[in-house]
Amino acid sequence: MTGKENAQRMEKIVSLCKRRGFIFQSSEIYGGLNGVWDYGPLGTELKNNLKQYWWQVTVRDRDDVVGLDGAILTHPAVLKASGHVDTFTDPMVDCRTCKARLRADQLSEKNGVKQCPNCGGKDLTEARPFNLMFQTQMGASADPASIAYLRPETAQSIFVQFKNVLDVSRKKLPFGIAQIGKAFRNEINPRNFTFRSREFEQMELEYFCRPEQGMDLLAYWLKERIKFYEEIGISRKRLHILDVPEKERAFYSKGTFDIEYEFPFGRQELEGVAYRTDYDLQQHIKASGKPLDYFDEETKERFVPHVVEPSAGVDRTVLALICDAYDEDTAPDEKGKMETRVVMRFHPRMAPIKCAIFPLLRNKEALVAKAREVQALLRPHMNVFYDEGGAIGRRYRRQDEIGTPFGVTIDFETLGEKGEELRDTVTLRDRDSMKQERVTIKDLPQLISSKIR
Ligand code: ATP
Repeated sequence: MTGKENAQRMEKIVSLCKRRGFIFQSSEIYGGLNGVWDYGPLGTELKNNLKQYWWQVTVRDRDDVVGLDGAILTHPAVLKASGHVDTFTDPMVDCRTCKARLRADQLSEKNGVKQCPNCGGKDLTEARPFNLMFQTQMGASADPASIAYLRPETAQSIFVQFKNVLDVSRKKLPFGIAQIGKAFRNEINPRNFTFRSREFEQMELEYFCRPEQGMDLLAYWLKERIKFYEEIGISRKRLHILDVPEKERAFYSKGTFDIEYEFPFGRQELEGVAYRTDYDLQQHIKASGKPLDYFDEETKERFVPHVVEPSAGVDRTVLALICDAYDEDTAPDEKGKMETRVVMRFHPRMAPIKCAIFPLLRNKEALVAKAREVQALLRPHMNVFYDEGGAIGRRYRRQDEIGTPFGVTIDFETLGEKGEELRDTVTLRDRDSMKQERVTIKDLPQLISSKIR
């Protein structure tokens, strides 16, 4: 695809997200809040499906990982110890011509001269560090002691609560603590739709181990995480692994891999998998004076565990799911003429709505009553959507556009009007092949459930 085609594809995706209720600009009626997004009804379902699946495979399916739900408001001492207060910065430059604030590494360059990417101006200030953390005030007094931060990552509460979780869970190394939650970064240049936002969610795992296990576990978690992206339906060929060179890694990291996805706007990071040694726990031991170590009952050794951290972005993964799913093909319209069909090919596991239910005609009471019965039958098992408005072809098209993998139509055969043998059967339509098969109503829950888990 050319750059122009990719830009057009991205425009179509952004417009579909708004039109169908996946993602809206936050505070839109007031002109929008830059870098902040609200998820609409379908976006919320998609995001929840992603988070639930991550939680399932990372925590519930395993004996060696437990969960945490830490607070967003964070004590300044925590972020001082972690290094965020002093070093969580991006180099910032001002353009004196158009007054834009720019990230120094995002300037354009012409004939070796740095330029403002907005106006082309060359009158730029020197780069200076800009701290990305959002600060707030706790309580009524406005003195410096009342400063708190909105956390810039979820990981720190895991390190700070390491001892408490270890004591209550009685886990033996290696074991992990997982968390999903909001994080905030005052990004200088939020851009590429939700990709770089100022408020976003992370899914992070801190997997603690003995020092000698670190490198092997790094390789293990990289493999697990790639498997995860494949299981949620992201095509392997658009995923890339970047082995981050030593000079670009954090100084304490012995190995870091970035998992990247080929977005229409370029190859960009979805997740970082890093072997962080014992840096974080040691920092908090030094700063708090509290022991955050581990006692090995078998070897009678006491030591500070090392950690491997797979850290993924919920919003970036949702965006990757949307970009990966977006497709156009052709399908016959009402009169049999071929037309372009927009279809979101979500993996059924991720699809916001699993099954749509259509009575063939809205003005036939018996069809509507039967369709409502099917809805009630499926509802406890999955998210379903009932639609009786418009021609059946148009109803299918509306569901294709939001990625609903299955459609059930209740017709006159269902009512037994075309032979007793077809009574209580419906057509089950597959979004991708558009093929329809006739199945018995009572088999539906099991049939569809087996494909969405
Ligand atoms: P980048 O280099 O793109 O700013 P990062 O390397 O600073 O990202 P990490 O600190 O490793 O990111 O955070 C872990 C994950 O959190 C990222 O891989 C990404 O998925 C997500 N993330 C980080 N910053 C943002 C953001 N501004 N908007 C959305 N997601 C983000």
